[in-house]
Amino acid sequence: MNPRAGLDAPAGLVLVVEDEPAIAAVERLYLTKAGFGVETAADGRAAWAAVKAHRPVAIVLDVGLPQIDGIELCRRLRAEDDWTPIIFVTARDDELERLLALELGGDDYLTKPFSPRELVTRLRAVLRRTNGPATRSRIVLGPLEVDLEQRSVVLRGARPALTATEFDLLAHLARSPGRVFSREQLQSAVWGHADHASGRSVDVHIAQLRAKLGPGSGIRTVRGVGYALDEQDAEAAATGSAG
Ligand code: CA
Repeated sequence: MNPRAGLDAPAGLVLVVEDEPAIAAVERLYLTKAGFGVETAADGRAAWAAVKAHRPVAIVLDVGLPQIDGIELCRRLRAEDDWTPIIFVTARDDELERLLALELGGDDYLTKPFSPRELVTRLRAVLRRTNGPATRSRIVLGPLEVDLEQRSVVLRGARPALTATEFDLLAHLARSPGRVFSREQLQSAVWGHADHASGRSVDVHIAQLRAKLGPGSGIRTVRGVGYALDEQDAEAAATGSAG
C-alpha cells in the first residue's frame, strides 16, 4: 500500500481493523471511493502500532480480533486520553457488546452484515460531530435550535419552556446528533454521576422533554441501549408545521 495514501486523501486517513480479509477489502474499497486514505490492521497489536504511527482521523474497529480485541484496544486508547473517533463493528446483534462498546468511548457501531455505504455515512457523521462541536454556542439541527449560552430552545418557531435538567439532556444529545447514548452516559453528563437507582430518572425526563417538544422532537429510543437525537429533515419539518 502506498504509504502516502493517507496524506494525499482529502478526507483523511482511516484505520480499518479487521481480521477477515474479505471484509477489510470491501471496507477499504468503499472508504477509498469516498475519498479516505485507508490503512488496515488484522489484529489488535498491529492496530495499536498503526494508530501511533499514522494518527488516523477515525478507526473502524472490529470487536472480535486476535490478541487484543476491539473493546480492549478502545479501552487502552481512551485510558491514554486518545479520543480518535471509533466506529465499532460487532459480529452479532449483541446488546451487551454494543452497550459496552459505547460505554468505553466508542462513537458508533455497526452490526455485521452491514452495507459498506452505511459505513461511509456513519463515518462522515462521526467526523462531522467530533470536529470541534464543543466550542459552538449554538447548535442548529434542521428545525431545532439549541442556544447553549442563552440556554434556550427553538423548535419550528416555538419556544418550549424546559427545566434545567430537560435542557441539559437535550443539549447533550444535540451536541452529538445521531449518537446513541446509554442511560448511564446521560446520567453522568447531566447529573455528574450514574447509579442504578436513578436509572429511571433519565426515562422520566426524556418523556417530559418529548411531551414539551411534540411529536417531531427527533429523540429516538434505542431499545436496550438508550437514546439519540436525530437530525431532522428541515423540509419535512417545515411541511409538518404548515398551517
Ligand atoms: Ca473478527
